[in-house]
Amino acid sequence: KTLIIAVDGHSSTGKSTVAKLLASRLGYTYIDTGAMYRAVTLEALRKGFIVGEKVEEEKLKNCLSEIHIDFRYNPADRRYETYLNGEYIEEQIRTMEVSGKVSLIARIGFVRKFLVEQQREMGKAGGIVMDGRDIGSVVFPHADVKFFMTASPEVRAMRRYKELLEKGEKVEYAEVEENVRKRDYLDEHRAEGPLVKTADALLIDNSEMTIEEEVQVMLEKIEE
Ligand code: C5P
Repeated sequence: KTLIIAVDGHSSTGKSTVAKLLASRLGYTYIDTGAMYRAVTLEALRKGFIVGEKVEEEKLKNCLSEIHIDFRYNPADRRYETYLNGEYIEEQIRTMEVSGKVSLIARIGFVRKFLVEQQREMGKAGGIVMDGRDIGSVVFPHADVKFFMTASPEVRAMRRYKELLEKGEKVEYAEVEENVRKRDYLDEHRAEGPLVKTADALLIDNSEMTIEEEVQVMLEKIEE
């Protein structure tokens, strides 16, 4: 049987790392829905629709139908990469600029509706691990297996801080922790598609787990 597996949770929990690993162990397709919100954000930035903290929603709405997002498997790097209207954008959507604006876009109802429809289409045949915030609650409420990943804000901020230092970014730990807490707040308090753990999702707090331990817990749950 080919299952639909939903992986939701907080930012910087290492969710995408484990979801990708899980997909590859199962021979499933990994779908990163965060990349889709990031792609719409990139397009909105390029078109000049985001001014400060404000989004020109009418203009964005009018050009949504011209936004085509797809994922292509790169066999050399063994990963799925994001394309926007045929253009490779995997790197561009991971910049601080896009990360800083994506919550403004993710809170817009018509954007969520537009992306959720596509996510349902991509996943409906099963054999997928879909990573996001609202997969088990909105996109696939009847997913076969649901996981909800979390870790303490301090642990997540420290992981993110180390990553940024490695990339050579100049940041203070306190700033990173504040950003983690702010993103949690925005994710949990959105009017549409807020981050919530559904009752049927298995909660995994990975504050003190290795990636391999986590994948094992998930595989056991899937085999139940
Ligand atoms: O997972 P990632 O951090 O790349 O997601 C980027 C942003 O997109 C998140 O901050 C979140 O607010 C939003 N998002 C969402 N719904 C999803 C996936 C991501 O609102 N299913």
